[in-house]
Amino acid sequence: MPPPRPALLAFAAGLALAPATSRAEAPPASEKPNILFIVSDDAGYADFGFTGSKEIKTPNLDRLAAEGLRCTQGYVAGPVCSPSRAGLLTGKQPAHIGHENNLSNHDMGVDTGSPLLPARLKALGYHTGALGKWHLGWAEEYYPWKRGFDEFYGFLGGGSNYLPGAKGIPMTRNGAKDTEKEYMTDALGREACDYISRNEKSPWFLYLAFNAVHSPMQAPEGGEAKQTAISDKSRRTIAAMTVSLDDAVGRVLKTLDTTGQASRTLVVFLNDNGGATYSKFYNAPLRGHKGTLFEGGIRVPFLVRWPGKIPAGKDYTSPITALDLTPVSLAAGGAKPEAWKDSDGENLLPALTGQKPAPAKRELFWRFNVVAAMRDGDWKLIRIRDNAPLLFNLADDLAEKNNVADKEPARVKTMLARLADWEKPFPAPKWTEGPGWESTHVKDHTKPPVYRGLVNNEIVTQE
Ligand code: CA
Repeated sequence: MPPPRPALLAFAAGLALAPATSRAEAPPASEKPNILFIVSDDAGYADFGFTGSKEIKTPNLDRLAAEGLRCTQGYVAGPVCSPSRAGLLTGKQPAHIGHENNLSNHDMGVDTGSPLLPARLKALGYHTGALGKWHLGWAEEYYPWKRGFDEFYGFLGGGSNYLPGAKGIPMTRNGAKDTEKEYMTDALGREACDYISRNEKSPWFLYLAFNAVHSPMQAPEGGEAKQTAISDKSRRTIAAMTVSLDDAVGRVLKTLDTTGQASRTLVVFLNDNGGATYSKFYNAPLRGHKGTLFEGGIRVPFLVRWPGKIPAGKDYTSPITALDLTPVSLAAGGAKPEAWKDSDGENLLPALTGQKPAPAKRELFWRFNVVAAMRDGDWKLIRIRDNAPLLFNLADDLAEKNNVADKEPARVKTMLARLADWEKPFPAPKWTEGPGWESTHVKDHTKPPVYRGLVNNEIVTQE
C-alpha cells in the first residue's frame, strides 16, 4: 500500500498557511464546510423513524433526513465495530490494512502507515475533534491525539457504561484521565455542542462517535417508563437509549443553527454495523445482524446533509459506502483527487450534490475473516469458508431469502474470481479473534435466515 505521502501533506499544509497563493488549489478556509460525522453503534436498521420505525421516535434524525439525503443503499466497511471504524477513518478497505477483525489485544490498532481523515483535513486547515468511542487501538501510537485529532474526549476501548453511578465513568480527555458524571449519550452531546460553539470561526471536523446503542444496555433514568407503547422490557431499553441518542443529535443540530453554522456544515449520520444479537434490535426486512455480511450486518442507516449543496428530502438510491466519505470529505474541503488516491472509496460528492449522475454500476467488496462478499450491480455473492457460496439478487430479493447460486453457476464463478483478484494484493489479517469466533461466523452465514422486526406491522422473529 502507498506510504502516507508526507510530501503531499506538507504541500497542502503550506497552502493553508499561505492563502494568497492557494486559491487555484483550494478554496480559502472560510469557504470550506465544517464536517460532522455522527456515528451510532450496533443499532438495528429499522430502529429509526427515517428507516421506518413506528415505535421508536427519532424526530431529530428524521429532521436530518428531511433536510438532506437518505442513502437507501448506505454501507459500512465491516460488520463489527473496529473494522467498520478503521474503514471510515482511513478510507481504505479493512482487509487492505490487515484490520478485518475486531481488536482483541492491547498492542493492536489502526495501521500507522495510513493517515486518518482528521490528519488529512488538518493539512487543509481544519481543526479536528473526536468524541466518544475510539476502538482503533489502545497503544500510544494509535491514540486519537496521535492520529490527527486536536481534541479527544471519550474512551479508548469498544464500550463504556452509560450510567455514571456514584463514582462516575472513567474517561480520557486529550490523554489525561477524567471522570464523567452525566449519562454517556447526554455527555457526548454536551461536548459536541461545546466543540461546535468554541470553533465557529474555523472549518472543523468533528467525529462524534456515540456508543449508543452498544452494550451494556443501560437506558437513562426514567427513559424506559416513557416507552409506554412497547411491552417488552428489553425492547423498551433499546428504544430509550435510541431516543436519548436522538435527543443528543437534536441538541447538536440546534447548536449548529444557533451558532449560524448549519448552512456551512456537511453532516453525515451513519450506524457502524447491524443490530447485535444481545439487544432487542429490529433489522427486518434485512437478513442477519452484526457480524454477518448479509445486508443486516453491513447496510446501515445513512444520512448526508449540506444545506444548499445537497438536495433536501430526497433519497440517494445508489450504493454509497463509509469508504467514500474520505474522498467526499477531502473534496468538500477543497483537496484534489491526488489527496485520496490511496483510498478504496470514490468521490461521490458530485453525485450527492446532483452535479453528476451516480455511478451506473459499482463493484463493492467486503472481507471479514472467514467470509467475504461482493456486489456487482444488484448481484451479491457471499463466500463462506468450507461452504458453498451464496448468490442473491438484491433488486428483487432484498431479504436475501432466495439463494440462486445453483441457477447461476457462471455468474458465481466470475464473481468468485473477481473477489479473489480484489483481495490478492491485501495482507493476511494482522490479527484474528481465534477459532471460536471463526466457527461462529461460519455458522452465522450457514444457518437458516434470521429476521427480526416489524414487517407490514407484524412482528417477525425468526432465528
Ligand atoms: Ca458496532
